[in-house]
Amino acid sequence: MSGGLRWRRRHAARRGAWQDGWYRRARRVPSPNFGPRPPGLPVRLAVVHSISLPPGRYGGDAIERFFTNQLDPAGHPYFAGLAGVAVSAHFLVRRGGEVVQFVRVDDRAWHAGASVWRGVPNCNDYALGIELEGLEGQRFEAAQYRATARLLRDAASVWPVAEVVGHEHVAPGRKGDPGPGFDWRRLARLLRRSMK
Ligand SMILES: [Zn+2]
Repeated sequence: MSGGLRWRRRHAARRGAWQDGWYRRARRVPSPNFGPRPPGLPVRLAVVHSISLPPGRYGGDAIERFFTNQLDPAGHPYFAGLAGVAVSAHFLVRRGGEVVQFVRVDDRAWHAGASVWRGVPNCNDYALGIELEGLEGQRFEAAQYRATARLLRDAASVWPVAEVVGHEHVAPGRKGDPGPGFDWRRLARLLRRSMK
C-alpha cells in the first residue's frame, strides 16, 4: 500500500472537536508561517511527514521552535542549515501521541513544497499537513498511529478530507518521508475502526 489511503465520509460531524479551525485535543503553538488558502479549493487531502530535530533525536522543543522561526542556529550543527527557512505544518504528532497544532486548518500551512496529487499541483493549497515526530525510514509509535487516526477522523468530519498520503507520494524523487517505516496498513485498520 504505497499510495496512501482513501475513505468515504459517512460518520457524524464532530464539530465540537474544533474551534475556529483549531483542534481542541491539540496544544496550540501558533506559527506565523501560513497564508490564506485559495478560494474554491476545499481541504480534501492530508499529507503525512516525518521530522525530528536534530534528525533521530526525539523530545525537546526544537521542532516547535523551527515551525515558529525560533530555532537557534547555534544550538546544534544541523540547525545552522535551517537558518532562515520558514516552514510549518498544521499538526505535529509527538512520539507519545501528543498533538501540537501550529496553523488553523482553514489556513494554508507550508509543508509540502513543490508537489502534485492526482494531477492537482501545490498540495499546500488543499491539504492539511501532519508531521510525525520520527525519522524517515524508521518506525513510528503506536500512540502516533492512534492519534493520527483520531485526528483524521475528526478533521474528515468537518472538512471534506477523504484521503491521506505521504510527502513521498506528492513529491516523489524529491521527498522520501515518512518512508518505508510508516505502516499504512496499520493506519488503514485504525481508520476503518474509528470511522464506523
Ligand atoms: Zn515532508
